[in-house]
Amino acid sequence: MQRLNDLKNFSEGLPTQEKKTPLLFVGHGSPMNAIEENEFNKKWEALGNEIEKPTAILCISAHWETNGTFVTAMEIPRTIHDFYGFPNELFNVEYPAPGNVSLALETKQTINKTEVMLDNEWGLDHGTWSVLKHFYPNADVPVVQLSIDHNKPAKWHYELAKEISCLRNKGVLIMGSGNIVHNLSLVDWHNPNNGYDWAINISEKFKSLIEENNHEELINYSNLGKEAQLAIPTPEHFLPLLYVLALKGKDETINFFNDSIVMGSLSMTSLLIS
Ligand code: ZN
Repeated sequence: MQRLNDLKNFSEGLPTQEKKTPLLFVGHGSPMNAIEENEFNKKWEALGNEIEKPTAILCISAHWETNGTFVTAMEIPRTIHDFYGFPNELFNVEYPAPGNVSLALETKQTINKTEVMLDNEWGLDHGTWSVLKHFYPNADVPVVQLSIDHNKPAKWHYELAKEISCLRNKGVLIMGSGNIVHNLSLVDWHNPNNGYDWAINISEKFKSLIEENNHEELINYSNLGKEAQLAIPTPEHFLPLLYVLALKGKDETINFFNDSIVMGSLSMTSLLIS
C-alpha cells in the first residue's frame, strides 16, 4: 500500500476548470457494435472528435455489477470479452487504454456514501470498450470503471453519483453505459430496425421525464406501469442513466442521439449533457 500512499491525487496539479466536462449516457446495444459499421458507432466516432478530449474517463457500465462498490485501480486494465456466441473477430478485439490509479483513489476518497474498494481484477467490460473503441480509437484516454452495487436501490445510486460531481471540473468525462429500454428475453432478432409498441411508448415517456428533469419519477420507474416493467426487467442497464442525470446541472442542455429502438425491445437512445 506504500506505493498507493505515494501517489498524488489525480486532480493535484490539474487546473480546476470553470466549465464542466460533458456527461454521456450511451446506449451500447449489441456487442457487435464494436466491430460492425453502423449509424450508432458512426455517431460515437463523430462525438469523439467533437467533444474536447477528456483527461480521463470514469465509466459506469451495466456489465459490472458487484456486491459493494468498486473502482478499477490497475495500471493496465484488461479487455474483458464478457459475452458468448459471437464471432471470433469480436473476441479478438483488444482496447488497450491505460487505467489511472490516482483517479481511482480520488474517486474512492470523494465518495462518502459507502466505502469504495479498489479493484485489481476487473478491467474494461464490453459496456465500456465496445463504445470507447469508436470514441477514442487510439485508446489514448485513461479509463476507470466504477461498479454498480446490485444490492442497492435506484435512489441510492442516484445519490452516490452526486458525490463525484467535482471530477467534472478536472476534465474527467463521466459516462454511463447501458440501455434505457433493455429486454433481452423479448428481443426479435429478425426485426433489427423496429421497436414494439410498448417499447416506443415507454421510451417516449422516459425521454419526456428526462427533458423535464423529473428524476424522481425515473428513480421510481417501477411505478410507471407494465411498459416500464417490460423495459426494465432488471435494473442494471437503466441505472447508469441515473448516474448521469444525477450529475446534470440546472443550466445544462440535454441532446439526445442514436434515438432508435432496435430488435423490438432495445433502445439505443443516448444523451450528451453539456
Ligand atoms: Zn449490455
